[in-house]
Amino acid sequence: MNIDRLTLVTESFRKSPVEAECPAKKVSEYFGDLVFDRAKMHKYLDAPTLKALLDCIDEGSPLDRKTADGVAAGMKTWALEHGVTHTTHWFQPLTEGTAEKHDALIDYDGKGGVIEQFDGKSLVQQEPDASSFPSGGIRATFEARGYTAWDPTSPVFIQDDTLCIPTVFISYTGEALDYKTPLKKALKAVSDAAVPICRLFDPAVRKVYSYLGWEQEYFLVDESLYANRPDLMITGRTLMGHNSSRNQQLDDHYFGAIPTRVAAFMRDLEIAGHRLGIPLKTRHNEVAPNQFELAPIYCETNLANDQNQILMNLMNRIARKHGFVVLLHEKPFEGVNGSGKHNNWSLGTDTGRQLLAPGKDPKGNLLFVTFFVNVLAAVQKHNALLKASIATATNAHRLGANEAPPAIISAFLGKTMTDVLRKLLTVPSDTAIEIAGKKGKNVGIIEIPEIFVDNTDRNRTSPFAFTGNRFEFRAVGSSANCAGAMTTLNAAVAEQLTLFKAAVDEKMAAGAKSNIAIMDSLKPLIASVIDTVCFDGNGYDDQWKEEALRRGLDIRTSVPEMISEFLSPDSVKMFTSTGVYTPNELKARVDVKWETYSKKVQIESRVMGRMATNHICPAALEYKSRLLKELSDNKSVFGNLDGCEAELETLRTINSCIEEIHRRVSAMTDARSRANALTSEYDKAVAYHEIAESLSALRKPIDTLEEIVDNRLWPLPKYRELLFIS
Ligand code: ADP
Ligand code: MG
Repeated sequence: MNIDRLTLVTESFRKSPVEAECPAKKVSEYFGDLVFDRAKMHKYLDAPTLKALLDCIDEGSPLDRKTADGVAAGMKTWALEHGVTHTTHWFQPLTEGTAEKHDALIDYDGKGGVIEQFDGKSLVQQEPDASSFPSGGIRATFEARGYTAWDPTSPVFIQDDTLCIPTVFISYTGEALDYKTPLKKALKAVSDAAVPICRLFDPAVRKVYSYLGWEQEYFLVDESLYANRPDLMITGRTLMGHNSSRNQQLDDHYFGAIPTRVAAFMRDLEIAGHRLGIPLKTRHNEVAPNQFELAPIYCETNLANDQNQILMNLMNRIARKHGFVVLLHEKPFEGVNGSGKHNNWSLGTDTGRQLLAPGKDPKGNLLFVTFFVNVLAAVQKHNALLKASIATATNAHRLGANEAPPAIISAFLGKTMTDVLRKLLTVPSDTAIEIAGKKGKNVGIIEIPEIFVDNTDRNRTSPFAFTGNRFEFRAVGSSANCAGAMTTLNAAVAEQLTLFKAAVDEKMAAGAKSNIAIMDSLKPLIASVIDTVCFDGNGYDDQWKEEALRRGLDIRTSVPEMISEFLSPDSVKMFTSTGVYTPNELKARVDVKWETYSKKVQIESRVMGRMATNHICPAALEYKSRLLKELSDNKSVFGNLDGCEAELETLRTINSCIEEIHRRVSAMTDARSRANALTSEYDKAVAYHEIAESLSALRKPIDTLEEIVDNRLWPLPKYRELLFIS
């Protein structure tokens, strides 16, 4: 049976409400109303409980059972006022997305009825039967218990009828089974390493925060068209599909007017996000047709990452109400741009100083340059590992595909900072770094322009770009949990800052003044980074690959190989010395990464084989038999096939495409059997990497058939239908 593609499109249109429900209030009045934030804590907790909880959040002091009970009681009162009936520990296992297991807030009351029950114990710890989550062999089957434990630094929130408690997820033996645990350790490590350096400048600093502002890109497709694309439904991307005659070549979508239906969806999404305390700020069309972006105001990294996870869930739920499906896959469509999730990252002190922005005076500028250079040194040393931190089967389609990012991690500084660094190498170590225009002792020797953030030039091809007061890690995939990249980056910077402080201490112990000791320790780092990891040229240029190899940067493009970098001696040393992963946890995580890679490719390969056999070949054969009948009719009427060259040519193409499809599908099936027989996860992933490469060869004859088979017979929604929402 053929699908009626036109009806499918109109169905989606009919379903979507054009106007989103609008609360008749200002955003400031409903922002965060579903979050148990500080304002709610003040309202619902007694004074001693409030103080103990805030000490726990701000100072990391432990939470006793009595306080936990007090907090739970306050939360329960608040939750019941919002009609909450269930509670869940909400965590981020090593799968995509989040996990939750709901428990009703009830218990026997001892009089034959039930009461609403929620105490400190249920708030603080749970033991979900979580044996099916990926653990990389950490939890042997005889000890399959996993524990979730409350993360008080991330606020509890309400979704529908459920009180969601953000938690870490660890094994019986205390090993991390999730994204949040190592992220929190990396954030602590970077603070512990950065504070002693900050104190050389300002003894009042007690804590350093890592900040994250993510920019989430995504595609929208009509729900009913999506339902007729098994590849989109099962793998998140189209495995076949000829380019639409028009795609992004007119550049007319980027920052264009947002289509009405999409605007209604965005509005609904923003309201829901704001109610959950996510400070969504920016929304716009992206480069590809049907591609959009939204971004919040940045905040502390752990919280920002939770918010991104909540939002990704929310996006899909709300899109359905509008007749859309959200595609978070990095490359849902061939031939148009893919989606990323730029991670804007910076560090700042508890005294309010942004460490990656110039200061007000030479001392402040030296602090800035200190952190700036140390970040670059960390990125240089661990460039292969940072790439590994964003390498997945899905992001592989973006890496190196002539759209951000190239499969080489380099840093873009812009002309101003490149000049500053080069100059620093040539001047005495006590030279003051001035803000241009301000008069000082060493006026004009090294200057940073006053309006800096707005002045920094942009380089869209760089995977790690300095943008005035932060670095933008652009290689992160749109479907990723940002914690993967953020754990690695913060841990690598923590390691580097510790090494740097030791070098400074040594010089100061030998009698150097702190500013001289700092500058003398920075100079070798600057000399090392400036002509290696720092690169302001075009990252898409083929010559960059050769150049990067000469500079000692990692240029590998195979995801299974990239992942191996987690186990290199430098990586293991960095992660263990910062306390972020134990060697056992690292090994387990890498196994999970390889296994996930293989499974994803396996699923794509199966879906593609079946669609080729069950959807594509039958449609082509139907058209073929029609052509054959036409030719035989022609012959019986005219006695020959004169003037039938077009039909004959089409038949020959159909035959050769079908033959090629059969051959490739069966070769792929054999390759899968061989891969499945391998026992090491690495070997299996390498074998699946080859299968992944063969998918594009199988795609070619399918896309050729799409171009020649009668449009009415084609069994799948085409790119031109999927890609244009009006
Ligand atoms: P772009 O022009 O790159 O799209 P935007 O102005 O949209 O940049 O900002 C992107 C993100 O960067 C936003 O989430 C914003 O809050 C965040 N951001 C701004 N300053 C910082 C900072 N110092 N640290 C981390 N994130 C930041
Ligand atoms: Mg940006």
